[in-house]
Amino acid sequence: MKLAVAKEVEVGENRVALVPDTVARLVKQGLEVWVEAGAGERSFFSDAAYEAVGAKIISDAAILWGEADILLKVGLPQEREDGSSEIELLRQGAVLVGFLNPLGQPAVMQRLAERQVTAFSVEMVPRTTRAQSMDALSSQASLAGYKAVLIAAAALPKYFPMLTTAAGTIAPAKVFVMGAGVAGLQAIATARRLGAVVEAFDIRPAVKEEVQSLGAKFVEVQLNEETVAAGGYAKEVSEASRQRTQEVVAEHIKSADVVITTAQVPGKKAPLLVTEEMVAQMRPGSVIVDLAAEQGGNCACTAPGKDVQRNGVTIIGPINLPSSMPIHASQLYAKNLATLVQLMIKDSALQLNFDDDIIDAVCITHAGEIRNQRVRDALAQVSTPV
Ligand code: NAD
Repeated sequence: MKLAVAKEVEVGENRVALVPDTVARLVKQGLEVWVEAGAGERSFFSDAAYEAVGAKIISDAAILWGEADILLKVGLPQEREDGSSEIELLRQGAVLVGFLNPLGQPAVMQRLAERQVTAFSVEMVPRTTRAQSMDALSSQASLAGYKAVLIAAAALPKYFPMLTTAAGTIAPAKVFVMGAGVAGLQAIATARRLGAVVEAFDIRPAVKEEVQSLGAKFVEVQLNEETVAAGGYAKEVSEASRQRTQEVVAEHIKSADVVITTAQVPGKKAPLLVTEEMVAQMRPGSVIVDLAAEQGGNCACTAPGKDVQRNGVTIIGPINLPSSMPIHASQLYAKNLATLVQLMIKDSALQLNFDDDIIDAVCITHAGEIRNQRVRDALAQVSTPV
């Protein structure tokens, strides 16, 4: 069994799929691990560190991709600088694992199926207790929530904590977190550690206790519809609920120094929570960090990857925040992948048990087919001419 770690060639991606500590454990289990030369460079893991724990360093990408039994990546396969396509480099029957964005990129899933590649997409790991150690969405979202608060604190022309000094008393910053999933809860915890007064809102009422246990106030909005979908995720809500929510949250946004938005609905454009009018009502100097920037943004003023100024309010739309903390992001992701890979291997050979709910949910393509109905539906939508 050859397990291969590819170098990420996407611009701005600093993470690597396995770190040397994880490689050491896999090698001890009898797996052969190949690492592309320079794969860990941008997350500060040298080729020598991988070699020292028994990995083989491969300089030729065509060999690494072409001979791997299981190829581990962070993001989607790309076109390389030399014009080669990573998907085309994979051999038939190989397993590919990564954040493959299957609902956003169904045509790529189709290509993988046509190439007879067995593709596993970590976004599909079920949110169950057994799958927790494989939950890459959570491990990476937590990093993003933490970093979002640091970005906000650095951009805010104020202190976060309350300070009593000889020169007077400083009031603590007010932080409003919208969306209290994994990223939002970590943002709340981080803002609290920095001494801010924190309020939070989510359309899933079940998060109220978690928010309160972190020392934040939960902003309640009574909605007359179910807001939770299968798997504990949020549902897209009706226009009436959206308006009702906006009426309630407007006051909290207006009085906040910092707004951190993290709201997402899987497979959909991010919900709009902060309108232009709400931004206009905020005090100059306030900061919004929109973690949904890549999914269309929770704030109407967000530009992905840019800082926007509106009436003295700074709106920051960061892209791929986990990549800005590549050492820990890679360490956690590597653990997620190594645990997932254990489920695919028996007696040092690939053995996929589709009766296992995790394998069944995460495996998107196999034996020339797209296995996942939602991905098939997404593909039908993009292939249907309008
Ligand atoms: P996510 O990234 O999909 O969304 C972030 C948050 O935005 C969610 O809390 C969601 O409810 C909220 N949101 C969506 N639309 C909104 C709107 N219009 N207004 C306000 N908030 C809105 O979520 P996530 O962090 O991936 O978590 C999804 C679910 O999975 C949660 O229930 C979480 O507790 C659960 N979870 C369970 C496990 C586990 O049991 N192993 C692990 C991780 C997450």
